[in-house]
Amino acid sequence: SFFGLPHQAPHERVLIAADAESGLRTMIAVHSTARGPAFGGCRLWAYENDLAAHHDALRLSQGMSMKNALAGLPFGGGKAVIVKPKGEFDRAKLFAAFARAVDSLQGAYITAEDVGTTTADMRGVQALTKYVSGIPREGAFGGDPSPKTAWGVFVSIEAGAKTVLGRSDLQGLKVAIQGLGAVGWHLAEFLHKAGAQLVVADIDPAKTAKAQAQFGAEVVTVDQILAAPCDVLAPCALGASLNATSIPTLQAKLICGAANNQLALPHDGDELAKRGITYLPDYLVNAGGIISVAREYRGEGEEGAVMAEVSRIAERVNELLVRIKTSGRTPAAEADAWAQSLLVKP
Ligand code: NAD
Repeated sequence: SFFGLPHQAPHERVLIAADAESGLRTMIAVHSTARGPAFGGCRLWAYENDLAAHHDALRLSQGMSMKNALAGLPFGGGKAVIVKPKGEFDRAKLFAAFARAVDSLQGAYITAEDVGTTTADMRGVQALTKYVSGIPREGAFGGDPSPKTAWGVFVSIEAGAKTVLGRSDLQGLKVAIQGLGAVGWHLAEFLHKAGAQLVVADIDPAKTAKAQAQFGAEVVTVDQILAAPCDVLAPCALGASLNATSIPTLQAKLICGAANNQLALPHDGDELAKRGITYLPDYLVNAGGIISVAREYRGEGEEGAVMAEVSRIAERVNELLVRIKTSGRTPAAEADAWAQSLLVKP
């Protein structure tokens, strides 16, 4: 449906905006403002068609509602997607037109970086609207949220490894990382420092070669990474990697990664549980970036305080692992119920 996803409350609104001069075609989905203005990044992607972009905006914005709620942020969930123009385009003009679309929502939606967009893009957006975050500021806190996202995933892997795998540290733990982008690379750095063994794949061979040289990582192909022998799988590329095809082949006992919408369908959470695999829900563990940009937006940014808040994601992972013992639900179903219960004004 244009109004939302099956079996879910409808989205509050979706703005579809286009600008002929710059080639902008964007969809800004405001899923919920129950907790506050809808906050979530902007993705620039070469979508197959407009419906695919619309669907992505709906899924991603709903995930942001859940993420922001579990992170205890006074923000609702929203997300913007921009359909990447075909051929050459003027990036500054594109993001100026996007900024005007964001501004037209008068603060109902606040944007930041996501896949395909950069701090430079957000600086351009900032020239035309105040409803933006994730911008490096001279002498002040702000900018790229990816290292914070990676830190949240790292502390979640630590928590999961302890409870699920019985490990007191990450020494020798084998972690497979799908995607060495902004988040995946930082995660690899943290894991390597903690003594983990890495298996990596990326469509960009330069990134995997660098990981091999820098971290002694084993490199496998993008077709092999999900089924690679490992203790932990960290999906850090795009969504829907956990699906009917991949789930029967997985060898990890724990899944914890940054990618949004890792489950292709809600029942894939059940399929993972049936295979004895503990899946730590993406929107629980990848909240480090939004915690960072939310603090920056509120002018409360300070590196130490932000890192401490991001580290507390591990406490919520522990709480989830306790909750599932009592409820008998899968981690995915439990996190959904937990987040839904928090979609109210804090
Ligand atoms: P990115 O674009 O910098 O990195 C993605 C990486 O995955 C790239 O290196 C790309 O080459 C690689 N890749 C793409 N398809 C692949 C495949 N099939 N197999 C292996 N590698 C593949 O993006 P990012 O900012 O690192 O974000 C990664 C994921 O985490 C996204 O799903 C994003 O929505 C999510 N996320 C990011 C943040 C953040 O702070 N950046 C926060 C929350 C969630």
